[in-house]
Amino acid sequence: MEITEVRIKLINNKDERLKAFCSVTFDNEFVVRDIKIIEGAKGIFVAMPSRKMSDHCEKCGGKNHLRAKFCNNCGTALIENRARKDAQGRMKLHADIAHPINADCRRKIQEKVTAAFNEEMEKAKEPGYKPVEMDEPDNDVPEIV
Ligand SMILES: [Zn+2]
Repeated sequence: MEITEVRIKLINNKDERLKAFCSVTFDNEFVVRDIKIIEGAKGIFVAMPSRKMSDHCEKCGGKNHLRAKFCNNCGTALIENRARKDAQGRMKLHADIAHPINADCRRKIQEKVTAAFNEEMEKAKEPGYKPVEMDEPDNDVPEIV
């Protein structure tokens, strides 16, 4: 599988770790959107599109984000820290919607996206730069945990 196109939409918020949204086309026929480019301590990393996980209130069945302390629907106090933990003990609050299943593919995507991002950053320095037209997801400022 080859990456045939990467589109980068830079985000202009200097203090945020979210640097860009990205769409990646595979083999000229399959597109994954809402990939995020995030600045971490060790440089930028590519985050696959993900959704917030939720669970249901034991009392009323209402749906709540895993970090909610009270039920959105009935106001019952919810058990804190009820999200499952990963190997590092961090709460697992998001689930990837689409993601590579091996390190090789992850590296391939990371390299291509990083290169396209750096290229777009260079282009953005030129006068008259127009950012790529791309819809942003509804939750365009994701919680980064
Ligand atoms: Zn409830």
